[in-house]
Amino acid sequence: MADIKEVVIIGSGPAGYTAAIYAARANLNPILISGLQPGGQLTITTDVENYPGYENPIQGPWLMEQMQKQAEFVGTKIINSQVTKVDLSIKPIKLHLDNGKIIESRSVIISTGAQARWLGIANEEKFQGHGLSACATCDGFFFKDRKVAVVGGGNSAAEEALFLTKFASKVYLIHRRDQLRAEKILQDRLKANDKIEFIWNSEVTKFLGDEELKSIEILNNKKDQKSILEIDGVFIAIGHDPATDLFKDQVDMDDSGYIITKPDSTETSIKGVFAAGDVKDKIYRQAITAAGMGCMAALEAEKYLG
Ligand code: NAP
Repeated sequence: MADIKEVVIIGSGPAGYTAAIYAARANLNPILISGLQPGGQLTITTDVENYPGYENPIQGPWLMEQMQKQAEFVGTKIINSQVTKVDLSIKPIKLHLDNGKIIESRSVIISTGAQARWLGIANEEKFQGHGLSACATCDGFFFKDRKVAVVGGGNSAAEEALFLTKFASKVYLIHRRDQLRAEKILQDRLKANDKIEFIWNSEVTKFLGDEELKSIEILNNKKDQKSILEIDGVFIAIGHDPATDLFKDQVDMDDSGYIITKPDSTETSIKGVFAAGDVKDKIYRQAITAAGMGCMAALEAEKYLG
């Protein structure tokens, strides 16, 4: 008889590991496929101060290592591989791995996460966690009385800039055009805030500094002029891409490619397929909210499996 698994979890961020912990403790013998970036987005952060349970700041990669060990301790089998193909339309669901193996499962939890978009310029990776971030909620607190910049012109950039005014002494909003696409109400709040200064028609072209980010080179694309701005922190807020290519045309998604789930649930449009974490969430995007959804997905999978 074929070895059909009860539940396979795709992705190894907080949502995936939490789903694994709950599924393992429900005797579902979960398999977790870790994907290309084991540990997910937290592995590219440094200090984490907002994950409950730790008095002092912890390191993102360490937190993910702990989650992995905890998931294994309670009985999860982790496969360091990538899913290359999956057909969600027939049961058992067949998952093709990049090592050539095929796993069959009665249910699947999708927790493949999302990636922040970066500018794609030199030194960007080097300064991540050293003055450069894609999450003001996570890292804004570290910039008390400092000068920071936000790059972008959408709702996220506007919200991040406003949030940062609670800590920073000055917030520059750098946008490539002379008009924001953020909602009018947010634009009004930005304009009314003394700490915010707009830098229009401008693109960040270089990150400068030794260990920590110290300044940025900015190109005014109207005047074709470059200038240097001294800065303590830069927040890139130019959008996110959910990792959902694998499931395209198989499960309901919104226009941006986020998986749609039923209200107050992680159930997708396909029975036995659940989605948790940033892959279905463009509002909160926090490790703790992703972990919460991972828990929900495992409980819902347990109920589905009967
Ligand atoms: P977004 O609306 O797609 O805005 C991205 C911004 O980044 C745009 O202003 C864009 O410039 C700029 N941009 C894109 N690529 C760039 C690059 N390579 N270099 C420089 N600038 C670049 O993304 P978002 O703000 O993350 O929002 C995503 C979705 O979530 C939207 O639907 C948004 O409304 C929603 N959201 C809603 C709320 C809320 O309701 N409170 C909060 C956050 C997000 P251009 O304008 O020139 O294209």
